[in-house]
Amino acid sequence: MLDVQKIRKDFPILNREVNSKPLVYLDNAATSQTPQQVIDVIVDYYQNYNANIHRGVHFLSQEATDKYEQARQKIQKHFNAEKSHEIIFTSGTTHGINLVANGFSSLLQKDDEILVSAMEHHSNIVPWQMLAERTGAVLKVIPMNEEGELIMDVFHDLLGAKTKLVFCNHISNALGTINPIKEIIDSAHNVGAAVLIDGAQAAPHIQADVQALDVDFYTVSAHKMCGPTGVGVLYGKEEWLNKLPPYQGGGEMIAEVTFEKTTYADLPHKFEAGTPNICGGIAFGAALDYMNSIGFQKIAAYEHELLKYATEQLLSIEGLRIYGTAQEKTSVISFNIEGVHPYDIGTILDKLGIAVRTGHHCAQPIMDFYKIPGTVRASFCFYNTKEEVDVLVEGVKRARNMLL
Ligand SMILES: *Cc1c(COP(=O)(O)O)cnc(C)c1O
Repeated sequence: MLDVQKIRKDFPILNREVNSKPLVYLDNAATSQTPQQVIDVIVDYYQNYNANIHRGVHFLSQEATDKYEQARQKIQKHFNAEKSHEIIFTSGTTHGINLVANGFSSLLQKDDEILVSAMEHHSNIVPWQMLAERTGAVLKVIPMNEEGELIMDVFHDLLGAKTKLVFCNHISNALGTINPIKEIIDSAHNVGAAVLIDGAQAAPHIQADVQALDVDFYTVSAHKMCGPTGVGVLYGKEEWLNKLPPYQGGGEMIAEVTFEKTTYADLPHKFEAGTPNICGGIAFGAALDYMNSIGFQKIAAYEHELLKYATEQLLSIEGLRIYGTAQEKTSVISFNIEGVHPYDIGTILDKLGIAVRTGHHCAQPIMDFYKIPGTVRASFCFYNTKEEVDVLVEGVKRARNMLL
C-alpha cells in the first residue's frame, strides 16, 4: 500500500491554509503540486550550475548539458521510446501538438481526412482546425455516448483511404474517461493513417509504453505530473520526425547557416530552436524519479480507491449528477447539482479551503454535448486522502443547502 501521510510530507504546499481552512487541493487535472525533491533540483540548478547548454566549452555548460541530456534519457526510458532523439523537449502538450500539426501542413492535400474525438481539450482541436484551413483537409469527429465513451463503431466506419491522421486523448481531462487508444492506433494504421495521442492527462496516472502502443506521436506536460510548468515532451517515431519539417527556426536547430541556404540539425535538435527550459527539463526528470519511487501501479490502485469512494459519497447528495461514467476512468469527477450553477458551488468550496475547477475545462464541445454551461470538477492525485473527500462532500452539501 501507499503511505499517504508520508507522501504528503514531501509536498510543502499541502500544509497551507486557505481562507483560514486547511487547503484541500482537488485541481490536479489542471496542475499537480511539486514535491520538495523536485523543488530542491530546481534550486540546485540556479544555485550551482546555471549555464546555456550544447554550445559552451566551459565547465558549467558541460554540466548543465549532461544533466539535461540525462533527463531526456530518463524520459525516454520511462515511456520506453526506442531512441533518445525521439524525445523532443517542448514547453508542454500544447506546443507538442502544434509542432506536429504545423509539420503536417506540407504532407496533407485537399480532401484528406483527419479524425478527432468528441472529448478533446481545445489544444487538441484548434491546431488541427488551423491545419485543415491551411490544407483544405476535412476534420471529422468521432462521437461519444452519454457515459462519455467514444462510439467505436462509428470510428471504424469513419476510417478510410482518405484518413491521414487520427488524434485523441489517452484520458479526458473533463470526464476522466480512459480511451481505447490501442484499438484506435491499430485501426488507424490499418488504413495508413498516423496517430497522435494527447497523453497530458494520462501521464500522471498510467505509464504509457510508446513502443507497445506503436503510437506515432505522444505528448505530455511535466506540470501535471509533479514537475514544473513550461516544459513537456513530444515523443515521435524517428521516421515521422524525419518527415516533418522544423517548426521554429533559430539557434540550436541548425547544422549550417548562410544567407543562401540553411541545413538543419539532426534529431532532436531540429525541433528544439532557441534556449530551452533547461532547469525545467532537468526537474521533469526528477519528477519522474519521484513518481517512479512511489510506483505507478501503486498510484493507480490508490487513486482508483479514492475515485470509487468519492463517487459513492458524492452520489449520495440529492440532485447531484456525475458527467463521465465510463467503465474505464481515472480519478476525475465532473458533476453538477440540479438547479445550481457550477461557478457558485466552486466559490463556496473555495471559502472552505477546497480547490476545485469550474467551467468548461477547455473542452467546450463536451459541455455542448451535455447541454450544460460547465461542471464542477474534482480531480484527485495520489497525495489526496479519504478525509479530504469527506471535506469535499460536506462542502458540496453545504453549498447545496445555501444555494437551493
Ligand atoms: C492539460 C491538458 C492539455 C494542455 O496541456 P498544457 O500543459 O496546457 O499544454 C491538453 N490536453 C489534455 C487532455 C490536458 O489535460
